[in-house]
Amino acid sequence: MKRRNLLKVIVLGDSGVGKTSLMNQYVYNKFSQQYKATIGADFVTKELQMDDKLVTLQIWDTAGQERFQSLGSAFYRGADCCVLVYDVNVQKTFESLQNWREEFLKQADPGEHEACPFVLLGNKIDTDGGSSRVVPQKKALEWCAYRGNIPYFETSAKEDYNIDEAFLCVAKIALKNE
Ligand code: GDP
Ligand code: MG
Repeated sequence: MKRRNLLKVIVLGDSGVGKTSLMNQYVYNKFSQQYKATIGADFVTKELQMDDKLVTLQIWDTAGQERFQSLGSAFYRGADCCVLVYDVNVQKTFESLQNWREEFLKQADPGEHEACPFVLLGNKIDTDGGSSRVVPQKKALEWCAYRGNIPYFETSAKEDYNIDEAFLCVAKIALKNE
């Protein structure tokens, strides 16, 4: 396989926001209520046809180390796109986004010429029909607008909502920055 078709994507956000669940839903069409802080593999892959190009997304998950913000340089190295995730029902996970964003910029050190490497996901919008939501969509959109127009998607790993759309956008950004 040619190197140019392999796109590295990393997923960042506080523990419990649904990073692993989003990836499992996207790649394996599976969802589990059971909380699993770790998965076995460093990354999962998904092939995607984009116009006339077949690309492979290599999506890196954390194994619970995000609680200590110590992910190591291999995790960040060569990342073409960073997916930031928060839980729309938990304020603190929204406030952490700035840290995660800075951590990525520091560790992955994307080139100046590169387009904005982020996509933001507001996950768990299914919960209690939306009544337990604490972060309004407007706040998330403002956050994105202030930081170079980061694309924003509201998702549910549980109900498989908006995930394909979000990762298609991720793939487009990764392809641009690759
Ligand atoms: P991670 O620590 O960010 O990888 O989060 P996990 O994927 O392990 O998910 C943490 C918990 O939230 C698990 O119990 C999941 O079942 C649950 N969860 C993840 N995504 C969703 C979602 O979209 N909706 C709901 N209701 N629960 C979710
Ligand atoms: Mg996880």
